[in-house]
Amino acid sequence: MIVEQIWTGNAYRNFNYLIVCPDTGEALAVDPLDHKKCLARAKDRGWTITQILNTHEHEDHIGGNGPVIAATGAKLLAHAGAKNRIRGMDRDLKAGDVIKIGKSVELECLDTPGHTMSHICVLSRTDQPSLFSGDTLFNAGAGNCHHGGHPSELYNTFAGQLAKLPESTLIYPGHDYITNNLRFTLDREPDNARAKALLKEVESQDPEAALVSTLALEREINTFFRLQSPSVIKRLREAFPDLPEQPDAKTVFLKLRELRNNW
Ligand SMILES: [Zn+2]
Ligand SMILES: [Zn+2]
Repeated sequence: MIVEQIWTGNAYRNFNYLIVCPDTGEALAVDPLDHKKCLARAKDRGWTITQILNTHEHEDHIGGNGPVIAATGAKLLAHAGAKNRIRGMDRDLKAGDVIKIGKSVELECLDTPGHTMSHICVLSRTDQPSLFSGDTLFNAGAGNCHHGGHPSELYNTFAGQLAKLPESTLIYPGHDYITNNLRFTLDREPDNARAKALLKEVESQDPEAALVSTLALEREINTFFRLQSPSVIKRLREAFPDLPEQPDAKTVFLKLRELRNNW
């Protein structure tokens, strides 16, 4: 499996992806908003885009569908629940479905509500899995729930699905928000040495060659996976004095999500 991360360089800081079968050159484009860059990259490398996956229905993820389909005839795949909001879907996806690309690539669909209620993440069936996480999981952060989502569903997705993936899973998010997210982590957990060191590293990084994190790294630097951390809880109790000494994980997650909304 070849993964090509495409930096759009737009104001929303979107990442687009091509996932490619090395045997046949067939490619699936994930949220190809910057259709020009996606089409040009595929052409350069001799790949053929045969499918588009939309992780969810927001415009900055579906906006490139039309031109990519016009240029390639690619089939459009998205969450079954997004049918009324994404035009021209060819295949409805649900949890457990498998997307095949060429001869050698298989992606498993995870139904991951929270950012919106019809959000799909896909996990590659490779020795080291890759997760294409859309706007559900970002490097050092979590998606917001302002446009059709629910924080408690997002918590269920994190705790019930994402936290259970293999530690070595590579994380490919829908946006480059890592520096801002690390600053939030440090605001919540000022003694997080790993986050401090990583922020220094990525502050000057070229998004064309962005760091690819793993679930193991996210557990160290992503506040939304650090719900038991004593310093996270201590700082949270300063902001919310009514919290008990040992708040449950869901409460911590929801309070962090609430603080992040106004941060
Ligand atoms: Zn979104
Ligand atoms: Zn987005």
